Amino acid sequence: MRCPRCDAPETRVIETRLSNEGRVVRRRRECPCCEARFTTYERLEEWQTLCVIKKDGRRENFDADKLLHGLCRACEKLPVPLDLLQDAVDRIETKVRDQGALEVPASLLGELAMEELRKIHQVAYVRFASVYREFTDLSNFASEIARLCGTLADSTSRNGRDPSAEAKRKRS
Ligand SMILES: [Zn+2]
Repeated sequence: MRCPRCDAPETRVIETRLSNEGRVVRRRRECPCCEARFTTYERLEEWQTLCVIKKDGRRENFDADKLLHGLCRACEKLPVPLDLLQDAVDRIETKVRDQGALEVPASLLGELAMEELRKIHQVAYVRFASVYREFTDLSNFASEIARLCGTLADSTSRNGRDPSAEAKRKRS
């Protein structure tokens, strides 16, 4: 299996796991050249058929690699390990499959991807949101960032630079 990051021709398997009650084989791999870690899946072809309904009504097969590519693009030049994004794609696909429908609107995939990116890296999240929600001017960015900062202020477990969050943390 080629390395998705540096394209080295061979990567080694560091862990093999069964998931979805033995219907899926999940392999963690590592690239000996760039040390990228990623996951590959072995599963029944028929189980894999999940249909994505695009905005214009066209349908295409769900493609985990394509989704991963979108997340990677949002994380370009940010210190986000690839395996974190692989896990995010895995969670998104599992969530969709757990709903039991074999057709999923592309908009739902986009929302789930944003939800995952928000937890991973704020800049990646805003980047993804700007493309996905088709931001057309700076005010869109500003309101998204304000929303993000509001969420952070509510959280007591992170972002020590925010004075209100810091104060709350000291009290607890
Ligand atoms: Zn590599």
